[in-house]
Amino acid sequence: MRKKIVAGNWKMNKNLSEGLSLIESIKAGLANGQGAGVEVIVAPSYVTLTEAVKAAAGSAVKISAQNCHQEENGAYTGEISTGMIQAIGVEYVIIGHSERRQYFNESSASIAKKINASLAKGLKPIYCNGEVKEEREAGKHFEVVQRQMNDELFHLSAEEVKKVVIAYEPVWAIGTGLTASPDQAQEIHAFIRKLLSDKYSAAVAEEISILYGGSCKPDNAVEIFGKKDVDGGLIGGAALKAEDFLALVTSF
Ligand code: PEP
Repeated sequence: MRKKIVAGNWKMNKNLSEGLSLIESIKAGLANGQGAGVEVIVAPSYVTLTEAVKAAAGSAVKISAQNCHQEENGAYTGEISTGMIQAIGVEYVIIGHSERRQYFNESSASIAKKINASLAKGLKPIYCNGEVKEEREAGKHFEVVQRQMNDELFHLSAEEVKKVVIAYEPVWAIGTGLTASPDQAQEIHAFIRKLLSDKYSAAVAEEISILYGGSCKPDNAVEIFGKKDVDGGLIGGAALKAEDFLALVTSF
């Protein structure tokens, strides 16, 4: 059975004490029984990760990094390896977020290597893909997502790909207040699952959680998460307030 997942990507927000207090509020909500059966993940900045792992220990909250480097170690000033992330007890790592692609020139080749490096250390990648506005307007979104998956994910074996969480995130919807309609989300999530089924098998495709991301909020999540092939969300803005995030966790 596919996991239902709500993952909060804090991006470059929340310092250490703000982050820890947000985790405490989320923990309190979950301890109250909210979000039972949902995998709840938060992705703080690197400097908060160690303390976040300690704060989340023994609770239902899982911790993710927002990025990693593909090499194990070496002269890569400012970068952090998957081994370093794994050594502090982090479980997930976001890879290929559109902001990394857009502002840090992340290529398909490096995304594929980051996925490999993560799996090699036992981290679970949250792999992001999605089209930009012009591609959607030109009706090329299926083609774009297919190309991304071919170039970045489909070198994995069936056993490996089952460890990946996919986040479909139309770039035009991220942080813009625009959201894919529930039907638009379902259409492309079903397409992604079909690609997985064709490449691996229907059984493998059935095991992989596909999250929607892009201005997902408490007032639109129930409809989006209610779609057959949408297994939850990768959340930016609405993950920064415990109340909103907990509302999302209970939107299934
Ligand atoms: C994201 O950054 O992954 C995201 C979905 O952001 P937002 O929810 O703010 O659109």
